Amino acid sequence: MPRMLFLCNKKSKVKVTVLGSGTSQGVPVIACPCPVCASADEHDKRLRSSILLQTASTTLVVDAGPDFRQQMLRAGVKKLDAILISHTHKDHIAGLDDVRSFNYLTGKPMPVFACKRDQEEIRHEFSYAFTKNPYPGVPEYDLHELTTEPFQLGDIPIQAVELLHMHLSVFGFRFGRFAYLTDVNHIPPKSMKVLEGIEILMIDALRKKPHLSHFNLEQAIEVAEQLAVKTAYFTHISHLMGFHREVQAELPANMFLAWDGLSFEI
Ligand SMILES: [Zn+2]
Ligand SMILES: [Zn+2]
Ligand SMILES: [Zn+2]
Repeated sequence: MPRMLFLCNKKSKVKVTVLGSGTSQGVPVIACPCPVCASADEHDKRLRSSILLQTASTTLVVDAGPDFRQQMLRAGVKKLDAILISHTHKDHIAGLDDVRSFNYLTGKPMPVFACKRDQEEIRHEFSYAFTKNPYPGVPEYDLHELTTEPFQLGDIPIQAVELLHMHLSVFGFRFGRFAYLTDVNHIPPKSMKVLEGIEILMIDALRKKPHLSHFNLEQAIEVAEQLAVKTAYFTHISHLMGFHREVQAELPANMFLAWDGLSFEI
């Protein structure tokens, strides 16, 4: 199996865009009467968690949740080279059916990078795409095995990082000086080693109260401090976190709640 699909040796700036900064239900939550869900502030409107990475030649996303279609349209993505899967909870894969638009455009299956277990889950969840004689127009996937072996897609270097999401082993990703760790409540020591030297961290911080399978805000701040990053962003945020503006005012100067549309270069 090739570890690189379209290798390009030149190093270029990677633009990261937050496509979604919300937890599994998104914000606002359907039918929720709370004031955060009623907020008019755009920072309080969060699609399901995903990021876009772009260079002049390469475009990737991490995860394709239920808002994938809307996220591709909103960010004006015209070309997508691959999808990296952190894990197969529905808020991270439910949008995979919509890669059809890219299939039609390129005439090729969409490269999807997932660990062996997650590939099986994808084959199960989207079984209609993997049958012998599929119905015309089904999505097409080109599944590649994701391991902790570093690899490169186009001019973007990728290192998957093992994390724990309660008892579930999931992947975060290091891209050079930036790491994206969604859906995590424990980082094993060997993975902390892999993360050494990053400057920008985007990490799960569900809410202020503790949670079984996600870091809360205090724990996420602790990780950012342990890694001594220059800048930390918090993502996978629940409406229970509170208003963006109020929580942001309480954070250390180099730490920020992420918001949909946030972008920066790495
Ligand atoms: Zn999630
Ligand atoms: Zn609410
Ligand atoms: Zn999850």
